[in-house]
Amino acid sequence: MQFLKRKFVKFLGFSILLTIYPIRSLLASAIKAINPNLSKKQRDIMFNEGTERPFSSELLNEKREGFYHCANCGAKLFASTAKFDSGTGWPSFSEALPGAFKTKIDYSLGMKRIEYHCAKCGAHHGHVFDDGPTESRKRFCNNGLCLIFKPN
Ligand SMILES: [Zn+2]
Repeated sequence: MQFLKRKFVKFLGFSILLTIYPIRSLLASAIKAINPNLSKKQRDIMFNEGTERPFSSELLNEKREGFYHCANCGAKLFASTAKFDSGTGWPSFSEALPGAFKTKIDYSLGMKRIEYHCAKCGAHHGHVFDDGPTESRKRFCNNGLCLIFKPN
């Protein structure tokens, strides 16, 4: 009985894997690499859902007024007025520009997190949490390598 149960669980795990895998590859193929000048690290984050090292982004100290754009397709994503220092080591924003992102639930790392992608090109940018400092309660935790800052 115990043996059958184990076999069943194993079978179940395998079928789930088979079901998830094609969806993941479909999603991946929906991402359009537009910018041919992206570095290997940028590609890894944007198309393979990687993460840059904390406190490595030059944008952490960016305090000028302007807008943050997608490093892949150039879409305008955040206004500098939404940027704040979260202390996490990644550029953080309390809100995104309307329609800038699409979200997806991410269960990697054994927890449920909301992952967001550029609505225009599908590139992965980061995760959004509900512990932000403003009324929106949002904290967009964005990889700096996915952003290009254009001062006003
Ligand atoms: Zn984009």
